[in-house]
Amino acid sequence: MSEPTLVEPRAARGADRPVEAPPPLSPSLALEPTACCICGHRDAVPLAVGEDFEYHVSADQYLAVRCRECGVVYLRLRPALSELGRVYPPTYHAFDFSSEKFGLAHRVRRWLEARRLLPWCRELPSGGRILDVGCGDGFHLGLLQEYGARDWELEGVDASEWAVQAGRARGLRIHLGTAQDADLPAETYDLALLIATIEHVDDPMNVLRAVHRLLKPGGRALIVTDNTDTLSFRLFQTRHWGGYHFPRHWNLFDQQNLRLLASRAGFTVDHMDTIVSPVNWTYSIHNFLVDRHAPDWLVRRFTLASPGSLGVFTIVDRIFQLMGRGGLVRAVIRKPLQASAPGGANG
Ligand SMILES: [Zn+2]
Repeated sequence: MSEPTLVEPRAARGADRPVEAPPPLSPSLALEPTACCICGHRDAVPLAVGEDFEYHVSADQYLAVRCRECGVVYLRLRPALSELGRVYPPTYHAFDFSSEKFGLAHRVRRWLEARRLLPWCRELPSGGRILDVGCGDGFHLGLLQEYGARDWELEGVDASEWAVQAGRARGLRIHLGTAQDADLPAETYDLALLIATIEHVDDPMNVLRAVHRLLKPGGRALIVTDNTDTLSFRLFQTRHWGGYHFPRHWNLFDQQNLRLLASRAGFTVDHMDTIVSPVNWTYSIHNFLVDRHAPDWLVRRFTLASPGSLGVFTIVDRIFQLMGRGGLVRAVIRKPLQASAPGGANG
């Protein structure tokens, strides 16, 4: 096994800088080493070195690796949990995805997401309880409130105070914390949503086990996450792939290893496929342009606020979706009625 070279934060390399020198513009984040979230192994192939091309919260370079055993892609050194306040600045889009800021892209996404989400809610009993894990400012809860049944009980949980404040300001019931540590009742929920959540958490296995505890027997979880089995990944995997979202996406999956993660957390898999998304195409181009110091007006054509590039890449991704390789993986997993205890540490 060859251990990949660990990328040191820039400040560590400049530790002999004279005391009088001005501090760097964006000080390094405290980082910690990781292992594969499924196998627990550290045997991994180096894939990419990249930086925060979107929010520039620090100048650090990050190393992404792929587990030799299960193929999960993860950050070899990632920000310590104590750094989350810096990693997710208040301007982070998931905390403030408003129509004022994102215009047409926001309206289209609302319509599209409602159409995607509601079919998975048809099976809910009357008074069904839904928990959105990592709900951000409550975007999906808002959709369910607007388009779903009136008697559903909707709750969210998010670790960011900014997000929780924004969601509560919209009248949503949101708990501060994580699925593991928030004070939530066991065996209560019919459906858990983990939409763009699992890639952000430090221990996806722990999160799924916590969700398993919170769900009623027979309850389901809907997971949507970036797909590494795509052409955009293959083309941009050494640095610019949008799905890395350096340094915020800590574990990235394909259908195979997401299935493995779910089964080791005690779930059966009801449904697994991919869905169309223009986002990682758009941000791969964005990141490439940022790296080439392209003019700002051009970079801004490739963001969540640019309907032009999102539209074009929706068509592009639709072609790959026909081959079963859309930009996102979608899984619907179920806690068995006769719940067997989830497997031991890392299964
Ligand atoms: Zn692994």
